[in-house]
Amino acid sequence: MQRILQPGEIEALDRVSFPRVRPPQVAALFQERAARLEQLADGNPIADYLRFAARVVRAQHGLAMQAPAAPPPSGEAVRRAGENGMPLMPASEPLPESWRATLRALVAQLAADGAIPAVLQPVLARLAATPDDALDTLARQALADNLGREDIAAAPLVMAALQVEFVLRAAAVAPTQVPYTEPATVCPVCGSAPVASVLRIGGNIAGHRYLHCGLCATEWHMVRIKCSHCESTKGVRYQGAEDASGKIGEVVQAETCTACHTYRKLVSQEKDPYAEPLADDLASLTLDLLMGDTDFSRASGNPLLFIEKPLAV
Ligand SMILES: [Zn+2]
Ligand SMILES: [Zn+2]
Repeated sequence: MQRILQPGEIEALDRVSFPRVRPPQVAALFQERAARLEQLADGNPIADYLRFAARVVRAQHGLAMQAPAAPPPSGEAVRRAGENGMPLMPASEPLPESWRATLRALVAQLAADGAIPAVLQPVLARLAATPDDALDTLARQALADNLGREDIAAAPLVMAALQVEFVLRAAAVAPTQVPYTEPATVCPVCGSAPVASVLRIGGNIAGHRYLHCGLCATEWHMVRIKCSHCESTKGVRYQGAEDASGKIGEVVQAETCTACHTYRKLVSQEKDPYAEPLADDLASLTLDLLMGDTDFSRASGNPLLFIEKPLAV
């Protein structure tokens, strides 16, 4: 006789059938992101910026592939994070020792790249001339999204270098070492905010929603009925932007929450298999402009685009 599963049992089955955490795949991550940025640039209102971002991401790929693999976290760090429900390797303390060398290599590579807009050369020159301790200060401010107006142009490059470092670190982490953190809306590996969430396709991850870390690119599962910012299940809705033909976009939608009044984008691979969370978030700036007219504010930024915050009134 067939036995009917109880809700708790179904949940338990579900939990073992797909991964809770997906560490970044270094060899594929930046390459797929760069290709997607180039693809989305065609006809996009910020096409030049997307092409520039693609150059930066291609340079990230080269640097990440040349770098030695990071060591896995120590057993002690795994135990401590698990016991306290804290991220495994919080981003800012201490900063990775090699991050400045990565930034300097990135800056040198971009300065020599003829496709980089001339307007960015002074930004690159200034970063190249910045002493180590001032770079560390800049990195901490960028990670905390607390930058002065004069540093906004340099911030995506600082974040790009930090991404290389943290992606390498996160790739050395085994999924079983990743703690359950409180709140579940920050990256369980590095403690950063997700840049967007993504509905995945393929194999045992198909149909599951993952939050994608803007810094280390770790993905962690969260059920779709929960707000990715406050975990409320009360008022999650979706909003898309019209494209040129008047059709509402389905690949990228803003997930809004009436409990915390924020939005974060949900990127659907079901609607486009090449969708990539960071690239699709960046390329859908039109949707952010649309959301600017609503009561919902953006939950967290995109590391490759810093926008000056309006002065508090
Ligand atoms: Zn992370
Ligand atoms: Zn919320």
